[in-house]
Amino acid sequence: MAVALDIADLRARRPAEPVNLAAIQGDGLGCHAGRDAMRAAAEAAGMSRTLEQLKQDYPTGPHDQPQSMCPAFGSLRVGLRMRRTMTILSGSACCVYGLTFTSHFYGARRSVGYVPFNSETLVTGKLFEDIREAVHASARPEAYDAIVVINLCVPTASGVPLRLLPKEIDGVRVIGIDVPGFGVPTHAEAKDVLAGAMLAFARREAEHGPVQAPRGGRSERPAVALLGEMFPADPVVIGGLLEPLGLAAGPVVPTREWRELYGALDAAAVAAIHPFYTASVREFEAAGRPVVGSAPVGHDGTADWLAAIGNACDVKRETVAAAQNRLLPAIRGALAAAPIRGRITLSGYEGSELLVARLLVESGAEVAYVGTACPRTPWSESDRVWLEERGVPIRYRASLEDDLAAFHEYRPDLAIGTTPVVQRAKEAGTPALYFTNLISARPLMGAAGAGSLARIVNAALANRPRFDAMRAFFEGVGTGHASGIWQEVPRAKAAPKVQAPEKPIGEMA
Ligand code: SF4
Repeated sequence: MAVALDIADLRARRPAEPVNLAAIQGDGLGCHAGRDAMRAAAEAAGMSRTLEQLKQDYPTGPHDQPQSMCPAFGSLRVGLRMRRTMTILSGSACCVYGLTFTSHFYGARRSVGYVPFNSETLVTGKLFEDIREAVHASARPEAYDAIVVINLCVPTASGVPLRLLPKEIDGVRVIGIDVPGFGVPTHAEAKDVLAGAMLAFARREAEHGPVQAPRGGRSERPAVALLGEMFPADPVVIGGLLEPLGLAAGPVVPTREWRELYGALDAAAVAAIHPFYTASVREFEAAGRPVVGSAPVGHDGTADWLAAIGNACDVKRETVAAAQNRLLPAIRGALAAAPIRGRITLSGYEGSELLVARLLVESGAEVAYVGTACPRTPWSESDRVWLEERGVPIRYRASLEDDLAAFHEYRPDLAIGTTPVVQRAKEAGTPALYFTNLISARPLMGAAGAGSLARIVNAALANRPRFDAMRAFFEGVGTGHASGIWQEVPRAKAAPKVQAPEKPIGEMA
């Protein structure tokens, strides 16, 4: 059914929800304008409630905002990975260029909608009407279950009111979200902004009547929904760990299809494998679902997680104990069979950094530092306690400077980190692994995780002699400004002298 937007009502609201001209002054506000300028502009445009909610969900500090790619990428990626879902961006062309480039680099294979704007369409409110028109034109029920519209920095700072979009057009849901870089610290948390908005929508639908069953039918056993994007084998491994408890692995949130949202909300419990899904957790708790933190990594992690899940799902203690007795020896065996020897610093922005650190420690590695761009939350608290009891320092909302300082202080045998950390480590002749592509793209859970992580870490540690050989070979070759193909080492030129004009500038013709 088409839902017509009341334009008269919209116009009547405009004086109370002014479009903020500050957002389009000069070359427009963007990341370069600074968080405070953007925040002030958004507040002036009536977005205080949205900003306050984002601040509560994604607290910053001690470092204000970790260096990261544009946070909106997280929301964009979640939308692009869902079947029958269209994603439309509303923002500056340069931001949209960067975001679409990155999404296709990561294999999106899906078009991204874009509603361009200029000063005039922003100021007059025509941008909102253009977005609304684009949503109506795109809402084809034969093609889509949902359309996601993402306000980037400038439209958020200008107060473009996506909440006034129709909620549904011919059965196609319309989800409008604000994902400003000055309100959402990391792209990891931006995934939660969209996942939370979708869960809220699906929960309301489920409360108002029957909804679609999961594609493969409902599980016969009570299911545990899994929160956080993980390696595809991990939900299968987790299913194997849940089976002796009489439970099954439920949908993974963010989901790949709209109907899976209902399955997730219907779960007996939720496992917050990644600990930063604050808005999603709020929806699960509103649906009455208990949420369990940490994950089944390594021996201790799996033992504790099975007990916590058993407790949340009312599984008998004897059943939990029997499952632990059956599963834990294999994990202990896998850890013993693939030991890791060496000092490691670890940092990333995926949210699984503490889990990986636990597995490394149980494998025998000396983990000297863990930095995560994500905040401290209740769902990773048991991991923090476990690591700190073993002397591992943890830095939440870690900046690049924190990670590099740790690298220089601890002089690890292996640095696991973000691209600039890996680059710096390799320059220093230290083996390094990129967390996102090489660590979080492999299984972590159960016995499979123990063996798999050790293989790649040990292979990297064994590379040290190659780095030493390369450093010896290139010894004496220029670095920094002196690197390149030059025959002689380039010298810095003296700054050119600026001659004062003979006449004052105001008098010149
Ligand atoms: S949308 Fe992203 S790239 Fe654009 S100004 Fe905001 S943070 Fe920067």
